[in-house]
Formats: sequence, structure tokens, C-alpha cells
Amino acid sequence: MLNIIIFGPPGAGKGTQAKLLAKRYGLYHLSSGELLRQELHDGPLAEKIRNHQTAGELVPDKIIISLLEKAARKKKSSPGILFDGYPRSLKQARSLDRFLKREGLPLSYIINLTLTQAESIKRIVARGKTSGRVDDNRKTVLARFAGYRQEAAPLLDYYRDHPGYLEIDGHPPISEIFRAIRKHIEPAKKRATS
Ligand code: AMP
Repeated sequence: MLNIIIFGPPGAGKGTQAKLLAKRYGLYHLSSGELLRQELHDGPLAEKIRNHQTAGELVPDKIIISLLEKAARKKKSSPGILFDGYPRSLKQARSLDRFLKREGLPLSYIINLTLTQAESIKRIVARGKTSGRVDDNRKTVLARFAGYRQEAAPLLDYYRDHPGYLEIDGHPPISEIFRAIRKHIEPAKKRATS
């Protein structure tokens, strides 16, 4: 199995690369944001989740951990899982480690897409002109970028010594970033399947 976690600041193209990777390797794209939106739509935890999200908070670890593990367990026999938006706290990271161990699944790669603050602002402001997302503007992007840095720093420290940790420059065009990621993933995949 090819299990991957992907990190990246606003505008780094995390969602885009996640989609490309999922398609290329047949991975199940497990986006925590998407999972929560589904639960909000028709799940028993909708009200609790809504309360936290309208307050601009992260959803409590306990809720997201159980939702995510349930979704991941269902896809245990897929070619792999791509974790997008998860983990977002050390508690989630440690819990994911335990979960994968318990299920006998490897953590293959941790992709850290990097982007400067200046480029993040430039891209998000440009995206805001067409995306319709209320948070895609100059005023919020600074806070989002800083928030990401603060949130991701301990997680990146946690994974930095993992043999599958990859730091990938998010500045080049989409296809070039994807190629850079694949360059690391393909040989290992061939080794694992030959
Ligand atoms: P996103 O689509 O990744 O921006 O996530 C949307 C919202 O869902 C966030 O603002 C959080 O409230 C919540 N969320 C997503 N992922 C997580 C997570 N791993 N832990 C806690 N809350 C999360």
C-alpha cells in the first residue's frame, strides 16, 4: 500500500497535487475538510461540528480522529490512502501512527510542499478573482499563512526524520511539481511491487 500525507500552505497547490497523485496511483483521496462537509450534510455529529466551525475553530481531535479512522478503515484494501488536511495536531499524528500500526499499514511518504509568503499571497489573491471563496483575499491570506506555519511546524518536526519525508518546492508549475514528487515515489513503488 502507498499511504501518503500531504502538507502545504495556502496556494501551494496541495489539493491539486493530491488529486493528481490519487488519480495516478489509484489512491483514496481522504480529505478531512471534505469528510467533515459530508458529516455536516447528513451525519449524527453535524451540530457539534458546525458549532466549532462557525466559531472558526478546528474540530476537536476526538471527533475528527474517529471520523477519519472509520473512513480509512473502509479503504484498507485500496492501493493506498492520501491523507489531505490530516493530521493537523500532534495528537492526530500520534493517533494516526497507532492506527496504521494497528491495521498493519505503512506510512510511505510525507510530502511537505513549500511556498514563500509572498507567493502564497500572490496566488491566493489571484485565485480569489475567480474562485468565489470568501477567504481568498489579501486580508485573510496573511492570517491563514501564519496560521498554517504555526500549525504545521510541530507536525513537520514530528515527521522530518521519517525515511519517507519529502520536501518539495511548490513554486514551479503544477506539472513540474508533480514530476518532482513522482521522481521520489516511482522507484520506491517499483521496488515494493517487484
Ligand atoms: P479545510 O477544507 O481543510 O480547510 O477544512 C475546513 C475546516 O474543517 C477547518 O477550518 C476545520 O474547522 C476543520 N478541519 C479540517 N481538517 C481538520 C483536522 N484535521 N482537525 C480538526 N479540524 C479540521
